[in-house]
Amino acid sequence: MIEIGHFIGGKRVAGTSGRSQDVMQPLDGSVRGKVALASAAELRAAVENAKAAQPAWGATNPQRRVRVLMKFLELVHAEYDELAETLAREHGKTIADAKGDIQRGLEVVEVCIGAPHMLKGEFTDGAGPGIDTYSMRQPLGVVAGITPFNFPAMIPLWKIAPAIASGNAFILKPSERDPSVPMRIAELFMEAGLPAGILNVVNGDKEVVDAILDDPDIKAVGFVGSTPIAQYIYARGCANGKRVQCFGGAKNHMIIMPDADMDQTVDALIGAGYGSAGERCMAVSVAVPVGQETADRLIEKLIPRVESLKVGPSTDSSADFGPLVTKEALARVKGYVDTGVQEGAKLVVDGRNFTLQGYENGYYMGGCLFDHVTPDMRIYKEEIFGPVLSVVRADNYEDAIRLPNEHEYGNGVAIFTRDGDAARDFASRVEVGMVGINVPIPVPIAYYTFGGWKASGFGDLNQHGPDAFRFYTKTKTVTSRWPSGIKDGAEFVIPTMK
Ligand code: NAD
Repeated sequence: MIEIGHFIGGKRVAGTSGRSQDVMQPLDGSVRGKVALASAAELRAAVENAKAAQPAWGATNPQRRVRVLMKFLELVHAEYDELAETLAREHGKTIADAKGDIQRGLEVVEVCIGAPHMLKGEFTDGAGPGIDTYSMRQPLGVVAGITPFNFPAMIPLWKIAPAIASGNAFILKPSERDPSVPMRIAELFMEAGLPAGILNVVNGDKEVVDAILDDPDIKAVGFVGSTPIAQYIYARGCANGKRVQCFGGAKNHMIIMPDADMDQTVDALIGAGYGSAGERCMAVSVAVPVGQETADRLIEKLIPRVESLKVGPSTDSSADFGPLVTKEALARVKGYVDTGVQEGAKLVVDGRNFTLQGYENGYYMGGCLFDHVTPDMRIYKEEIFGPVLSVVRADNYEDAIRLPNEHEYGNGVAIFTRDGDAARDFASRVEVGMVGINVPIPVPIAYYTFGGWKASGFGDLNQHGPDAFRFYTKTKTVTSRWPSGIKDGAEFVIPTMK
């Protein structure tokens, strides 16, 4: 049994609130250990620590700061396998997929090694007579991140790396469902040379989140999770005068044009729809074949592929996907499948009764496939976050593009086609933040930015890429004059460039 407290002031500390929660192992439903749930007082201790450590870190030159990131990469690579194993055991995804979770985080760390360049200001020599204007990016001070269960390495790293590279101190509130990897990440950063207090991990639930949102010393909050919580955090954090960016839920469509290569499309759809048991914010959950003939061909090829998906424990290297994260998540997803049947969608593959011999208490279900889903159904409107794919048949391209455009969510979308003109029109007109052209999960590479539109994102700056440096720094603009002397006397008219 593992006991997880918090990481404050450069070391692991036990929780003192008296509240804790079980950390489960989804693959067999056993209890792995307990995680402490922090009180507001424990959060305050972390903030005090961070506040004391930040000025010296902020004053350290950026090239020295990023050497810590370089060393951190080396340390993670040395224990990649152990980290992936821990991640898979607490989350439920396969070990191969857990490695991808870590890798997509490391790629952002790699890009943040370029922070000295990203943090450069602007300079105009001779903006006026004897006047120079320049801008600089300064750290905000103490900043925080609140992250979801589904990428316990990647999303914390997307926030930690640009925040600390920019000279801030960071407080992470990871998901209470899979806290071990975020705790180890903090420890590895210390081993890499990060000063104590610059990265703190405070475990907990709503109580500590509210304390973060109300703490006057926390200047910015980055959140990733479900849309109702994203909206709540955005509203409360903004009302308290903080800089807030919140990324929420999704319902990602994949449009399949009649000219798409159907074998490639089905391969892409199977991986994007069912990988990680559909527990990805960029998972494809709606397939939109254009034309009845395309739909029939798609369904015919999809059915045997969904039926033959291999569900297994996270430790089985031949499994396509593992269990869902909790018993409640399993019940919720199965409940959605029941709802879809009641709403009149045609369940052509039913994975609800799947059990795995030897792992009867694990949170498993097989892949489900719905045909003839319509936009008025709850299974279309709401995020299911499980291995359930809905096929919505569209008569033509305009009907197809209208679906993601009118959907409440706008995280990711894809079009599969051989026609450059259709692809180009789609990329230009679709009302969604991240677009794939023959790419099913268009998560942008680390030096571009990641963010959804509409109910999938709140705030004006995206994650990683240049936006991350804008989010974690404030701009100061200096207008400087070194007069040649005092002979010109006082000026009473506003200076202009006329
Ligand atoms: P969640 O919203 O339940 O939890 C996210 C975080 O918020 C956790 O740290 C949790 O402790 C905290 N939290 C939960 N309830 C709270 C409350 N009432 N008050 C304050 N804080 C609270 O999300 P989850 O189940 O961990 O993650 C899955 C969701 O995250 C899905 O909706 C998925 O689409 C979304 N997600 C979005 C992105 C993106 O970039 N848009 C990426 C990954 C996941």
